[in-house]
Amino acid sequence: MQDAGAPLFLNKWGDGLIQSDSSLLQVKGIGEKSYKLYQKLGLYTVGDLLRYYPKGYERFDAPKKMQELVSGETCAVQGRVLNVPSMRKTNHLTILTVNIKDDTGSMALVFFNMPFLTKLLKPGMIYVFRGLIQTRGPAFLMEQPKFYSPEEYQKLSGILMPKYSLTKGLTNQAIQKAVKSVWKDYAFEEEYLPKEILQRAGIPEAEPALYEIHFPQEEESAIFARRRLVFDEFFSFLFQLRKNKDQFSEIPNECPMIETADTVRYVDALPFRLTKGQKQVWQEIREDLEGPLCMNRLVQGDVGSGKTIVAFLALLMAAANGYQGALMAPTEVLAVQHYESVLKDIKNYHLCFKPVLLVGSMTAKEKKTAYEQIASGEANLVIGTHALIQEKVVYHKLGLVVTDEQHRFGVRQRETLAEKGLQPHVLVMSATPIPRTLAIILYGDLKISVIRELPVGRLPIKNCVVNTSFRPKAYKFIADQVATGRQAYVICPQVEEGELDDTENVIDYAEKLRNALPPGIVVAYLHGKMKPADKNRIMEDFAAKNIDVLVSTTVIEVGINVPNATVMMVENAERFGLAQLHQLRGRVGRGEAQSYCIFISTNDSKDTMKRLQILNTSNDGFYIASEDLKLRGPGDLFGIRQSGEFAFRIGDVFTDAELLTLTSEIVDELLKKDPTLSLPEHRPLLEHFARENANAVDFRSI
Ligand code: ADP
Ligand code: MG
Repeated sequence: MQDAGAPLFLNKWGDGLIQSDSSLLQVKGIGEKSYKLYQKLGLYTVGDLLRYYPKGYERFDAPKKMQELVSGETCAVQGRVLNVPSMRKTNHLTILTVNIKDDTGSMALVFFNMPFLTKLLKPGMIYVFRGLIQTRGPAFLMEQPKFYSPEEYQKLSGILMPKYSLTKGLTNQAIQKAVKSVWKDYAFEEEYLPKEILQRAGIPEAEPALYEIHFPQEEESAIFARRRLVFDEFFSFLFQLRKNKDQFSEIPNECPMIETADTVRYVDALPFRLTKGQKQVWQEIREDLEGPLCMNRLVQGDVGSGKTIVAFLALLMAAANGYQGALMAPTEVLAVQHYESVLKDIKNYHLCFKPVLLVGSMTAKEKKTAYEQIASGEANLVIGTHALIQEKVVYHKLGLVVTDEQHRFGVRQRETLAEKGLQPHVLVMSATPIPRTLAIILYGDLKISVIRELPVGRLPIKNCVVNTSFRPKAYKFIADQVATGRQAYVICPQVEEGELDDTENVIDYAEKLRNALPPGIVVAYLHGKMKPADKNRIMEDFAAKNIDVLVSTTVIEVGINVPNATVMMVENAERFGLAQLHQLRGRVGRGEAQSYCIFISTNDSKDTMKRLQILNTSNDGFYIASEDLKLRGPGDLFGIRQSGEFAFRIGDVFTDAELLTLTSEIVDELLKKDPTLSLPEHRPLLEHFARENANAVDFRSI
């Protein structure tokens, strides 16, 4: 899904040394076996590895006294083991509990499925235990803490340890070692930004910034380094955007259309009336398609506002006029969902669509058939992922491209299509509620249509923000909803244990839920690292009601539409940005039944609760996004990432709003002064962009 693949730094010295596009197999210490693990993370080349930035850092501060502990904090305590650990077995879990004490108090530790620990945790032994502090009644408790001998811990103290997103078998230390090993044999590109820009943006040079992000000396310097990497992402994105704007605004309409009976018939046949906003936007789109200029439009509308139907109408108009239309989604799951929904509509309303699906998990043979149907014009609606604009796809008469929930990709797509000699109308659908000032920067090349209201008859979602002690009640609530025929989502931050410290993961959580819920309730899980075909299967099963409770990472945040689901429960809600939580909430309340959202926070601190309470008081995405922005300070290194629609690798349009604005000014000034980058001081930059562009779209993920 990442666009990437650009050689970050070119090797000045030629052969022998490692290049950005060298395979990771060439890195000392990475063999076939670990290479497979890196592949699982989507890392193939040295450049991929260098750009695989940590998700955060862990600091090993001096152990705290037990009387100083605060619930919701991750910290270390040094304690003496008080008793022989007690062991309890449930169907799937072995639970080991042990108490420890220091001179100020005592607390309990709980370990799951680690019976062998009885050998290490013997009464009288002293360790440093590090983990998330929770409370059970009046007592403190840590689940699955890591533990060290006091000497071991002493050695770690004061260090800022990067935490990467991991997969089983690959540790943070292994990744650090690989990066270090690359560093020795790697020759970096010279700094390509002119001094002026470095100064104006307040950022360091590229090479030291990259080193610092993997091997930070201290928090402040890591924040400074991060700023450079974020700047680079924004800078090349906005540069491209502005260039496209000049190149693609006001091009004549090469695919003129007229209104036909099909769309009118479809609107009349729908089981609901279009909202005022949908009607208005549909009219704006129609005028574009009929008008003198090629359409370049964004439809912005809150989750659940009904953007899909507007996209279908535009595609239907294209088909009725003898053109082909393409609908691109950011994930296979979403593409398949759109495809299924089109098939259903064709059956119900006899639409003039001849659709074809094109996604990565299809077999070579299936793809070949799809290519042929597209090339011959037999298919007039193509639905899929990025695969749709791949070189292999030859269109017969492409008239319209709709991009759903991935604006960032839309920017390059226009160019890629133009290079193929295609000049279709472009429609971008977005649910990310961006404040106006940012919208002007990010959507500067598009005309904007907004759907303001939700369809009538929707009950507002009921929300609650609670701490972990509420879980038993929440499970009971979910069980009750399932008993009435409804379905539920449960979101956890990580896929499997150990990717991030101390947060819930879908695999273990699904197991936990199976134990906690009455038998007969079908629990399944879904996450981004699963094979696309497996993801599709799970989603289809959920949509078909073969699954009652779906435990998932945020892969389901975009676009998924299962109106029968009425509960959304989010674990570790404090780890998500408000805009993202709002997107997740948007997965329920899509039908007429009352829906509920339960945000479980593991951190009771006042600031966290204040932030999460905003969700409680509003169901309006724009309001939430702007409040979230107000509560954030710039330079928040451990900041929470927001919605993935803009899919920057490290930058975040919300958290880094200030830098985004500044970058936009810098790009504008640069283009004014030297639009072709031909001044000598801009030469390195021109070369840098050329290299980036040569590798702009990476199709490996398809
Ligand atoms: P989003 O804007 O988040 O993409 P969707 O297009 O998926 O939202 O629509 C959400 C749900 O609302 C779908 O089940 C869709 O059929 C339904 N819907 C769309 N428009 C209307 C309407 N005008 N009245 C009632 N339901 C609608
Ligand atoms: Mg949608």
